[in-house]
Amino acid sequence: MAKINEIFGSMVFNDAVMKERLPKATYAALKEATETNKNLTVDVANVVAAEMKNWALERGATHFAHWFQPLTGVTAEKHDAFISPVGDGTVIMDFSGKELIKGEPDGSSFPSGGIRATFEARGYTNWDPTSYAFIKEKTLCIPTAFFAYGGEALDEKTPLLRSMDAVNKQALRIVKLFGMNNVENMITSVGPEQEYFLVDREVCEQRPDLVYCGRTLFGAKPPKRQELADHYFGAIKPRVKKFMEELNEELWKIGILSKTEHNEVAPAQHEIAPIYTETNVALDHNQITMEILKKVAKRHDMVCLLHEKPFAGVNGSGKHTNWSIATDTGINLLKPGSDPENNKIFQLMLAAVIQAVDDYQDLLRVSVASAGNDHRLGGNEAPPAIISIFLGDEIGRLVDSIISGAELKNIERFRIDGATVLPAFQSDTTDRNRTSPFAFTGNRFEFRMTGSEQSIGDACFVINTIVAESLMQFADKLEAAEDFDKAVDEVIKEALTAHHRIIFNGDNYTDEWVAEADRRGLLNLTSTVDAAPYLIAKKNVELFKRHRIFSEIESTARYEIKLDEYAKLINIEALTMIEMAKRSIAPSVSEYCRDLANTALAKKELGVNIKAEKDVLDKISDLAAVLNDKIAILEEAELKADEFEMLEKANYFHDEVIPKMNELRLICDELETMTSADYWPFPGYGELLFSVK
Ligand code: ADP
Ligand code: MG
Repeated sequence: MAKINEIFGSMVFNDAVMKERLPKATYAALKEATETNKNLTVDVANVVAAEMKNWALERGATHFAHWFQPLTGVTAEKHDAFISPVGDGTVIMDFSGKELIKGEPDGSSFPSGGIRATFEARGYTNWDPTSYAFIKEKTLCIPTAFFAYGGEALDEKTPLLRSMDAVNKQALRIVKLFGMNNVENMITSVGPEQEYFLVDREVCEQRPDLVYCGRTLFGAKPPKRQELADHYFGAIKPRVKKFMEELNEELWKIGILSKTEHNEVAPAQHEIAPIYTETNVALDHNQITMEILKKVAKRHDMVCLLHEKPFAGVNGSGKHTNWSIATDTGINLLKPGSDPENNKIFQLMLAAVIQAVDDYQDLLRVSVASAGNDHRLGGNEAPPAIISIFLGDEIGRLVDSIISGAELKNIERFRIDGATVLPAFQSDTTDRNRTSPFAFTGNRFEFRMTGSEQSIGDACFVINTIVAESLMQFADKLEAAEDFDKAVDEVIKEALTAHHRIIFNGDNYTDEWVAEADRRGLLNLTSTVDAAPYLIAKKNVELFKRHRIFSEIESTARYEIKLDEYAKLINIEALTMIEMAKRSIAPSVSEYCRDLANTALAKKELGVNIKAEKDVLDKISDLAAVLNDKIAILEEAELKADEFEMLEKANYFHDEVIPKMNELRLICDELETMTSADYWPFPGYGELLFSVK
């Protein structure tokens, strides 16, 4: 393998490459345009495009693509070859500034909510010069935003870029008030920790549920799951190690700062985390990471499952989203420093986040709502559906003292002296609670509800926007204040006092917390259908309008898309279950019964005891009859769904179809434990979870 520093970023048209290859004036114009959000002139775009093309051709690229993130959760790209005919039967390699800046893909096959009905189907892609172009499989990929014909955002990137502007604008007001006049931009950063499962490809492909839905819809409990916790941080198997090596190399080539890799708690579960970067780049990088995870796994004859809950009874996968905000001069406003008691800008930022999370619990919950993540939130390993903040002892006590006005007692920090050969260190008091959905972890907040398969775009733009709102309210007060220092203390105290209910340092998995949260008036939105309507709640539509994230049409479109996606997904799952149960499970069980009966008959002729066969046959035959009923009930329920639209339809799937799917599963899983393994049509949980040796 080549040296890491040689391959890192070798397929990225990054700042260093631009500086080296672009004429000085072009480079300066491009920099200025990206830093001040100005439009590029066609002349500058032409020069950049020509050099980008030369650079890409040197690296073997043949095509270019506007790479974008429609609301399907995955990325899209339409490839065009660089070729351009010159009239004599030959071609030249061409790529213009216009082609770089703007694309016009047909938008009609991408989700658009109600927007498509109102406007033309055509869509636009628009170059995002703040995220570098890169080469992927001989194609120069240009990160772009995706709009409808009327300018409405139809992707993950646009609201995120808008939210970065919003939080920048408000946070700048705050830092200026604190006299930090050299700051020009406020930067929000994110580090997403991506969890995933690896299953042997041959084993996986025998399961229609994994092939169609990415999760198992049936499966009896195997003798061993994660009870021994022997997988977490365990030695990585050689086959997985090889996969990770290739994965890292691919990610490094396109400039993704892949840093941490380890086994997770469940068998076959792993995690990859990059070093944090600016939010929109982190979003792009995470989308590419998910794509490359799948591709590289295939090359190693494995399948990478990104679904939030591929296996019942086994930990699901999340994507902890670590978020912070810093000045462009490198000061992280969420860093308490050595004297948090007197670090007012930190306290103000902390209060802003606490207020934001309390006021907009609903939006945070919606930002992670999907049919897949519904299985996880509220399950026993993931945060529950109730949003609360964990601060840890140290910052928790600081907040208490601010609210009560009592003096902060000397913060106790206990030392862990392991042995004389180990250096003494202070234990980190901030991150002992893994059950919290929104935890302060020393210099950032960690939003733990994001699902492994979801785009982090929604979570990021919501966090940016709701924090922008708090900061706007704070800045309004502070700018008008006569005594600034006094006003800062008041604003902090006021916000912490008003929003203290959102702080919870205990165990979020307990029933007591559910009751306590209810007493505190916190929301508990247990499913996507409960959460989705908050997207069009008046206060939230107004918030998005105020900060120029969404027009009302755009908010409504997102709401409709969410419901539509939910209904479609559950429908596919129901149909897959029917197909598997009807065409594979029922016939296999019947075949097993036939052979059992034949055995019994033969034994009876010999005058041998047939009780064993008869007992099993009796039981299985009874269950098989129930199985047929359950299939018919689910079939009927699935057909009826067509009578409904939108919220009613999503609710119907949630209330009527899912319970019937669960009942069908229960019968099938029981039959699995009673049917000879030789007859069972699919590899079971044991085989799936331990398929990668
Ligand atoms: P853990 O599993 O203990 O939470 P990891 O090292 O797996 O820790 O992941 C932590 C993630 O948080 C990494 O992506 C890291 O880059 C990111 N991170 C660290 N500091 C910050 C910060 N100031 N802002 C945003 N993300 C951060
Ligand atoms: Mg981690």
